[in-house]
Amino acid sequence: MQHTRRFLIKAAALGAALAAEAAAPLPAAAQSKGLVGVAMPTKSSARWIADGDNIVKVLKSRGYATDLQYAEDDVPNQLSQIENMITKGARVLVIAAIDGTTLSDVLGQAARGGIKVIAYDRLIRSTPNVDYYATFDNFQVGVLQASSLETGLGLKEGKGPFNIELFGGSPDDNNAYFFYDGALSVLQPYIDKGKLVVPSRQLGMDKVSTLRWDGATAQARMDNLLSAYYSNKRVDAVLSPYDGLSIGIISSLKGVGYGSGDLPMPLISGQDCEIASVKAILAGEQYSSIFKDTRDLARVTVDMVDALLTSQTVQVNDTKSYNNGVKVVPAYLLKPVIVDKSNWQATLIDSGYYTKQQIQ
Ligand code: BGC
Repeated sequence: MQHTRRFLIKAAALGAALAAEAAAPLPAAAQSKGLVGVAMPTKSSARWIADGDNIVKVLKSRGYATDLQYAEDDVPNQLSQIENMITKGARVLVIAAIDGTTLSDVLGQAARGGIKVIAYDRLIRSTPNVDYYATFDNFQVGVLQASSLETGLGLKEGKGPFNIELFGGSPDDNNAYFFYDGALSVLQPYIDKGKLVVPSRQLGMDKVSTLRWDGATAQARMDNLLSAYYSNKRVDAVLSPYDGLSIGIISSLKGVGYGSGDLPMPLISGQDCEIASVKAILAGEQYSSIFKDTRDLARVTVDMVDALLTSQTVQVNDTKSYNNGVKVVPAYLLKPVIVDKSNWQATLIDSGYYTKQQIQ
C-alpha cells in the first residue's frame, strides 16, 4: 500500500514535470528560424511603439523569435541592449538608432559574429557594418510638409508675404537633415522672393534643430522666438518636422493668445499622425501631418530579414541616396502621405490604421 502510494506520488510528480516541460518555452533557436533583435529608440512617442509591435507581429508570424527593446532615448542604454542581443545569439539586428553615429563598435562586434544589420527608419552612420536600410522617402517627407504649408497659405497663387519660423529634428538623426532639406527645396524660393519672411533669421539645421526630438525644447524655443521677434507681428506658419514638436509649439502659441480672438493659429506641419495630433488637426490647431504606415515598414523589414537569412536577393529601390559616411547603404524607401482635414478619414481610418473612435 505504502509502496503503491509512493509510486502514485512519483508518477504524479513525473506527469507534472513533463507537463511543465511541454509548457516551458524551448530555447529560441530550437523553436524558431532564429532570433531577431529589434532595438527601438523610445516609447515616449506612439509611432515607435507601433513600429515595435508591427515588426514583432510579422517576425513571429514568419517563425522568428524576437527580442524587442526600447532605450528611452538613452544612447548607452541602446548600446547595451544591442550587446545583449548579440550575446543572446541574434542572427539579425533591426535597429532604429537614437544617435546614428554611436554604433560603430557594437556593430563591429556583430559583424565579427556574422550577424546581419538592418537600419530601421533612421540611417546608421560611420560604419561599414550595416547591410540594408528600410525607411520612408525622408526628403519627400520634408517636401510634403512644406508643400502643405505652401498650399494652405496660398503661396502658389501669389499670396503673401507671410511670416514663418522653421524647426528641425534631432541633429544626431540623419533623417532630420533630409526632412529639412526637402522642406527648404520648396520654401527657399519663396524666402528668396520675399513671399516668406523668417523674422528670427534662424535658418539652417545648426540653428533650428531640436535635440532628441524633444517637445519641451521646441516649446521653449518657440517662446523665445515669440518674445524676441513677434512683439509687433504675427506668425503665419511654422515648419515643424514631428508631431511631438508641434504639440510644444502649439502650447507656446496658445500661451500668448494664438487660436483665440482675432489671432488665428498659424499653419503648423507635423509628422507621424499621432492620435493627439490628428485630433489637433480636426480641432484646427495643427494644419497637417505625415502618415507613415508602420505596417508596411515592418513588412519590408521582415522581407529583408528573410532574404538575408536565406541568401536570396534583398529587394531595394534606392542605391544612391543614403551614404553613411563609409558607404552607400542600399535602401527600400516607402512613400509618406500628407494628412490634413481633407483626407484623414480616407487615409487613417479606411486603411484600418486607427478606428474612428480613437480619433473622435
Ligand atoms: C522619424 C520620424 C519621427 C522622428 C521622431 C525620425 O527619425 O523618421 O518619423 O517623427 O524620428 O521620432
